[in-house]
Amino acid sequence: MVRTQVAARGLRHARVLAALAAVPRHCFVPAALRDAAYDDAPLPVGYGQTISQPYMVALMTAALAPRRSDRVLEIGTGSGYQTAILAHLVKRVYTVERLPELSRGAAGRLAALGLDNVEYRIGDGSLGWSDAAPFDGIVVTAAAPAIPGPLAVQLAHGGRIAVPVGDLAFQELLVGVLGPGGLAVHAEGGCRFVPLIGRHAFPEGF
Ligand code: SAH
Repeated sequence: MVRTQVAARGLRHARVLAALAAVPRHCFVPAALRDAAYDDAPLPVGYGQTISQPYMVALMTAALAPRRSDRVLEIGTGSGYQTAILAHLVKRVYTVERLPELSRGAAGRLAALGLDNVEYRIGDGSLGWSDAAPFDGIVVTAAAPAIPGPLAVQLAHGGRIAVPVGDLAFQELLVGVLGPGGLAVHAEGGCRFVPLIGRHAFPEGF
């Protein structure tokens, strides 16, 4: 998976590739889909949500330029797969999920893998996690109509944020770096995620 789907597409960030190789993806998909766990595709994880395609997880993680000392905020815990990759790479991960069942499932999987540098919160991640801010990196693993305002405010100086921005059919992966002149944003290509539903995102039932 790492070689043919990620490195072959030109993603060469050594620490990110090592983290992908270290996390058993089959532990994060439903038992009935185990055989497809290493496929080049997103997969359903229940409650209408998906575990992202491995390459997309790698791309978003590399976009944060993660350092060992970083504190990172993830919005959309889902299966916990991206959370586990981040937990391998940085000091502490703060992850928010709106669906309690998914958050609990993810926490159980990471605990079973011995990943104990993660804090879980159930709620609307479009509001961020202000009492733990600022963050060196913020990653949103669901599609938003724009970079949620509260998240941009919770970024540390020099921090990086990755958010799929667009409508429900198609989004652009936007990556922002907070510099002296403000947030410098560039696009890293097209993608397709389930919607981010919340106050600074799409409305419920959208
Ligand atoms: N990173 C996950 C991808 C999960 S899909 C993985 O690798 O498995 C996106 C997740 O975002 C879903 O679980 C969905 O319930 C969650 N989500 C949607 N809106 C949210 C919000 N406002 N706050 C937190 N989580 C949200």
